[in-house]
Amino acid sequence: MRETVVATVGLGANLGDASATVRAAIAAIATLANTELLRASHLYASAPIDSSGPDYINAVVQVRTALSAPALLAELQTIERAAGRERPYRNAPRTLDLDLLLYGDAHISSPALTVPHPRMQQRAFVLLPLAEIAPTLVDAAALAAVQDQAVHALGSQKLGSDSNLSRQIGI
Ligand code: ADP
Ligand code: MG
Repeated sequence: MRETVVATVGLGANLGDASATVRAAIAAIATLANTELLRASHLYASAPIDSSGPDYINAVVQVRTALSAPALLAELQTIERAAGRERPYRNAPRTLDLDLLLYGDAHISSPALTVPHPRMQQRAFVLLPLAEIAPTLVDAAALAAVQDQAVHALGSQKLGSDSNLSRQIGI
């Protein structure tokens, strides 16, 4: 088996039952082949940026995976499609958006896959949940720069790194 890499995935949803969609997506990521869920943040709520519709529900997870970065992205897009994701226009409201934020310390630059994700440093809905589960990956100055964005952690549904994910998130 190829070497494993710690990859970081950002989740967002703002149509339908967005919290349930994000929880189900985390569960789906946890069951991907050759991939182990390491950590999952709380769910966060954020006002849409350059978009419309209800607040987004966001979360960030880390996985250890033997999948290549393109293969992992393809799996994430399969999960998006299963959640009914359509792309009628740029930045349209979406049932589920899964972004590959980091893939180890790899730098990848193609239209189909750019890692680190080019906009992650400007987005509080990425940096806050990422700081919760992997504080060393978040630059304090970047965090300070997005502090005016309206993002807050929701409730008490800490997902944690426990392997009994389904019990913790109630699905
Ligand atoms: P966004 O997440 O930027 O709002 P989309 O989810 O519609 O937009 O993604 C559009 C395209 O971005 C996808 O077809 C995908 O191939 C490409 N893409 C490039 N880099 C990444 C990445 N790091 N994570 C997810 N998609 C990416
Ligand atoms: Mg996306």
